[in-house]
Amino acid sequence: GEKDDGMKSGKGRLIVLTGPTAAGKGTVEANLLSKHPEVWVSVSATTRDPRPGEIDGKNYWFMDEQEFRSKEARNWFLETAVVHGMAHYGTPLQPVCDHLKANIPTILEIDLQGARRVKQRASELNLEIVSVFIAPPSYDELVKRLIGRGTENEEQRKKRLETAKVEMAAESEFDVTIINDSVDRAADELWNVIVQEYGVGA
Ligand code: 5GP
Repeated sequence: GEKDDGMKSGKGRLIVLTGPTAAGKGTVEANLLSKHPEVWVSVSATTRDPRPGEIDGKNYWFMDEQEFRSKEARNWFLETAVVHGMAHYGTPLQPVCDHLKANIPTILEIDLQGARRVKQRASELNLEIVSVFIAPPSYDELVKRLIGRGTENEEQRKKRLETAKVEMAAESEFDVTIINDSVDRAADELWNVIVQEYGVGA
C-alpha cells in the first residue's frame, strides 16, 4: 500500500559501501543481492584484466588505460581511484543518477579513497549519500582472511596488513558501521539501511 505504512515517496540516498581490504564488502553485497534482487549495484570500470569467470558489463566494464583516461577526461566518472597501486577503477556517473531518479535502491561498492571522493563531490553533484563502513570483526580476523586468500607473497601481505591497519581507523568518517562477523546478518543490516532510505519491501 502507499498510505501510512512508512513508505517513503522521496528519493533515497545513494548507498556508498566501503571498508578495509578483505573486510568482505563483496560477500555481504552478494548475500544482499541473493535475498533482494531489486537492489541495483553499480558496475565499475577497471583497467585490470578479467579474472576467470568475470563477465564484461556484469562484474566490471573492462577497458584499457587509454579508454579509461579518455572517459575520465570527459567527466564520465563519479569517482576514480588507483587501487593497490596498480589498476584504475571508476564509477560511471550516469547510471547512478538514472537509478536514483527511478527510486531504485542504488549501491556503490568502492574502496575508501573512492568513498571519500564521493563524499567530497556529493554537494557539487547534488547527490545525497549515506556511507556504510563494512568492518571485519577484528584486526586478527582480517589478518586471517588476508592470509587465507593465499594469493600474495610475504612482502605483499605485509604491505596489505599495514594498509588494513590504517584503513580500519577510517571507520569514524562514515555514517553507518556494519560489523561483518556473520555475512548473513551483515547483509540484513545493510538491507535495513536500504529500507530506511527507500522504504522498499518493509
Ligand atoms: P578487485 O580488483 O578485487 O575486484 O577490487 C579491488 C578493490 O577495488 C576493491 O576494494 C573494490 O572495492 C575497489 N573498487 C571496485 N570498483 C571500484 C570503483 O569503481 N571505484 C573505487 N574507488 N574502487 C573500486
